[in-house]
Amino acid sequence: MADENLNDTKNIDASVGGTLFERYFTGRNEASLVAPNTLFMTADYVNLTAFETADGLLLVDTGMVAAGPKVFEEIRKRTDAPLNTVVFTHGHLDHAFGLAPWLEAGEKPRVIAHENVARRYRTYMKTGPMNVHINRVQFGIEADITWPQRDEDFFWPDTTYRDSLTLHLGGERFELRHAKGETDDATWVQACDRKIVCSGDLWEGILPNCGNPQKVQRYPEEWADALEAIAAVGAELLLPGHGQPLEGADKIRTCCLNTAEALRAIVSQTLEGLNAGWTHEDILASIKIPEHLTGEHYLDPLYDRPEFIARNVIRKYGGWWEGFSSQIMPAKMASQAAEIARLAGGAAALIARARELTDSDPALACHLAEWAALAAPEDREAQQCVIDVFTKRAEGEIALMGRGLLSHAARNAEKAIAALDSTG
Ligand SMILES: [Zn+2]
Repeated sequence: MADENLNDTKNIDASVGGTLFERYFTGRNEASLVAPNTLFMTADYVNLTAFETADGLLLVDTGMVAAGPKVFEEIRKRTDAPLNTVVFTHGHLDHAFGLAPWLEAGEKPRVIAHENVARRYRTYMKTGPMNVHINRVQFGIEADITWPQRDEDFFWPDTTYRDSLTLHLGGERFELRHAKGETDDATWVQACDRKIVCSGDLWEGILPNCGNPQKVQRYPEEWADALEAIAAVGAELLLPGHGQPLEGADKIRTCCLNTAEALRAIVSQTLEGLNAGWTHEDILASIKIPEHLTGEHYLDPLYDRPEFIARNVIRKYGGWWEGFSSQIMPAKMASQAAEIARLAGGAAALIARARELTDSDPALACHLAEWAALAAPEDREAQQCVIDVFTKRAEGEIALMGRGLLSHAARNAEKAIAALDSTG
């Protein structure tokens, strides 16, 4: 099967809808009313909603640690209502870690989250260095990163639930529903009397990021279930965890159902390939977003690519063996690379061919450059070839995760050259 399918996102013009962070930076840096008694804002790149009720505020998400003071200040500019309840849409760092300024100001909110949020925090306590490493790789962060690892680093929910929870605040009804999608601990909130839904990260205006190459299992099928459930409640306003709100019942329904359809297509295509006994690479090459949805900018693969999502589906239903017999107990990559270089007549031949193929077949060029550097790690030309080939490919890559991991190869090669320079 032709592998150029894996690169066919190149004909997507994402600039029409903006890049990922252009979409996340909504320009809504101040808390403002988006509906009666409903404040909404973006803190850095994360959105928060505050519902003012006769019993006080219901705050949906709190932002990152660093964004907490700004969120507090902004909402306090608009209302003095006491903080009655906080709901975390999930336990990620950008949503559930900004509560400190509220507590320091003497507020005593009830803190509600899905029961798996507490489990996530306990996992974070075991995997801090791993998460630091993941973020360094995918975002190219060289500076110090802190990761919550101590008990006191977390705002532990005092109220958890399993499937759904109904809240009555100031005579109004709010429904909390559990979903799985990007995470297994998600909650979406329906302000029933206001016809508003807070989706958390179940809606971000991009192809759902449920294929992250370095992270734990994600849930495309359950994500589709959740989007269909959101579509069914008939909300007039959807306030997402990232990106711009969606307005209008028809638009919300269409966007949610189309996104669910795209996810279901990826899942069913993957299962078809698994059932047919295909190799993983043939399954990945077969993945296509349905034709009639390809122009929708809310399906732009700005974070994950369709085939990354398919890999997650493979992981859920199948095993790790990709289907090539030599890979079941493979020779080390460095040994393979040394042998390929020997057959080619030396690393220089691989380097030359990698450079030749940089534009016409960037995927193959990356293999050749990586083999050259593995075969001859102390060869500056080989490391420079990795930098050039991987950087070029990263520049043309639409998905943040693709770009991040390609750039990581270039950064590693830069470090290898620096190490060679320092030892002379
Ligand atoms: Zn998020």
